[in-house]
Amino acid sequence: MGDNKNKNSSKELHFDAIVIGSGISGGWAAKELCDHGLKTLVLERGRDVTHIKDYPTTNLNPWDFKHRTQLTAAVRKENPIADSCYAFDEATQHFFVKDKEHPYVQDKPFDWIRGYQVGGKSLIWARQTQRWSKFDFEGPARDKFAVDWPIRYEDLAPWYSHVEKFAGISGNKDGLETLPDGEFLQAWEMNCPEKFIRDKITAQYPDRFVVQGRCAHLTQPQPVHLSQGRGQCQARNICYRGCPFGGYFSSNASTLPWALKTGNLTIQPDAVVHSLVYDEMKNKATGVRVIDRLSKEMTVYSAKIIFVNAACLNTNLLLLNSVSKRFPNGFGNDNGLLGKYIAFHNYRGNINATIEGFEDKIDFGRRPTAAMMPNFRNVYKQETDFLRGYMVHYSASRGRWNGKEMDGIGAGFKTQLTEPGEWNISMMMQGETIPKENNQVWLHREQKDDWGIPLLVTSVGYDENDEKVLQDFLQQGKEMLETAGCKNIVPFDNGRKPGNDIHEMGGVRMGKDPRTSLLNKWNQFHNCKNVFVTDGACMVSTSTQNPSLTFMAITARAVDHAVSELKKMNI
Ligand SMILES: Cc1cc2nc3c(=O)[nH]c(=O)nc-3n(C[C@H](O)[C@H](O)[C@H](O)COP(=O)(O)OP(=O)(O)OC[C@H]3O[C@@H](n4cnc5c(N)ncnc54)[C@H](O)[C@@H]3O)c2cc1C
Repeated sequence: MGDNKNKNSSKELHFDAIVIGSGISGGWAAKELCDHGLKTLVLERGRDVTHIKDYPTTNLNPWDFKHRTQLTAAVRKENPIADSCYAFDEATQHFFVKDKEHPYVQDKPFDWIRGYQVGGKSLIWARQTQRWSKFDFEGPARDKFAVDWPIRYEDLAPWYSHVEKFAGISGNKDGLETLPDGEFLQAWEMNCPEKFIRDKITAQYPDRFVVQGRCAHLTQPQPVHLSQGRGQCQARNICYRGCPFGGYFSSNASTLPWALKTGNLTIQPDAVVHSLVYDEMKNKATGVRVIDRLSKEMTVYSAKIIFVNAACLNTNLLLLNSVSKRFPNGFGNDNGLLGKYIAFHNYRGNINATIEGFEDKIDFGRRPTAAMMPNFRNVYKQETDFLRGYMVHYSASRGRWNGKEMDGIGAGFKTQLTEPGEWNISMMMQGETIPKENNQVWLHREQKDDWGIPLLVTSVGYDENDEKVLQDFLQQGKEMLETAGCKNIVPFDNGRKPGNDIHEMGGVRMGKDPRTSLLNKWNQFHNCKNVFVTDGACMVSTSTQNPSLTFMAITARAVDHAVSELKKMNI
């Protein structure tokens, strides 16, 4: 990042604030802290990745790759976990953790997809950015699971606006209670079959809505985006390689360079945070122990406040590993709940279909988002035999020649190659899962990683509710596609494992009561006010919407509180 100008070459050991992790949430913490004038150290376990310079594949064509962007059988065999992610290929593999480099123990099957580098997973995310609604924050209290969220939608609404304006979110103002509107740039357009299906579904089901998915792409860059050095999204749809235009939001293109410009930021890559340091005399955390990734040397850095943003499961790991006389069972873990109530999104349902009547139409160009339906199950009251619901995505695209399906030679064959195939419809679900105490992670007693840190054990699985949600989606999705006149409708359980959604949440949840939660409504530990957790680990429940925009808003809100408390000398 920033041609080493940010590197901690003078080995400064004391800062106003430390942020652990430089991904989506850590980048936001850094930006906000630096904007408030705090000297901030970002500790990142992975290598440095400078915007543009370190996107080696971003301008390559398929034929420039040895395997035309496909991974070899050997790479796939060696990396069954990374390979389970659709975005892992020859062009993007350098931004994914390889299975052997960072092992963990699966007590139950769990795909843990990670990106260890400056920017974290912000380089490889799919950029879908829907606000959560009031129904999401009220859900646990109404349906009596997990604990009550200590905040409501209204607490977060101004912070959603704050982060949306800066990140740049495209979308329509749709006026839905289940999907609050935000600060949007111009939306992407649906194609003809998508609009047709939308109209048929909404005519048949008055309580179901189809809108264009909102996403973190600059369709109309504003001065605030241009001043970040970013430009218009070119709809290249090879975002997972890193975007030289800064067309989509990433820490590397946006928050980190912005924070650097304030002169208050130091980024230390290759810095594996081992644990937090707790001072019993001062009753607070005073810093962090860091192991250099390459030399394995340990350094202790100190700061007045610490933001833990290592991404949900690594945040759990780090806190479980932060033991002291005061916290023998892990940081802040007086109630024994640290590492418990881990939840995720249920991605198991897919439906494929075809649609006729649009043979004179062709889809042209590319688009980084798809049509979506916010949850329509159990919205206002409990109506089904399962709790909560699911969001639905669908898209339509015209089939093209596929080498595997066509044989041939000569002029006729070549002509055939130029003819588009039928219109295919692809539909998928994103189901809310219910956080449960026995969906948890803990530290392995014996096995350690190369830095002497215990391996994480994941014991997170589906339950009966998830099965019912899946069956409901498969049935309802089929019915909706039938209503729209689709043909060849094939609903199926894709068998994806928990974690494969890459939306892991919980383990260090917020709440009103220190007996049943770890963090208060400002994301501070109830029992150690100068440590904040604002990544997915803090979440009480999962909603049906993608979570990262909410991590950003929660982070900005927590920094604002931290700064005002620091001014009042309360922490
Ligand atoms: C293919 C894919 C598609 C996705 N699509 C979407 C989407 O459409 N919408 C959405 O909302 N979300 C999406 N996500 C999820 C999204 O990427 C994450 O929710 C988001 O990145 C989480 O932000 P974070 O800051 O918590 O973690 P990250 O972005 O993962 O950053 C965490 C950082 O902490 C570092 N770190 C970890 N441990 C330590 C340690 N001990 N010491 C120092 N540093 C450490 C890591 O190296 C990493 O850089 C997707 C993810 C993937 C991979």
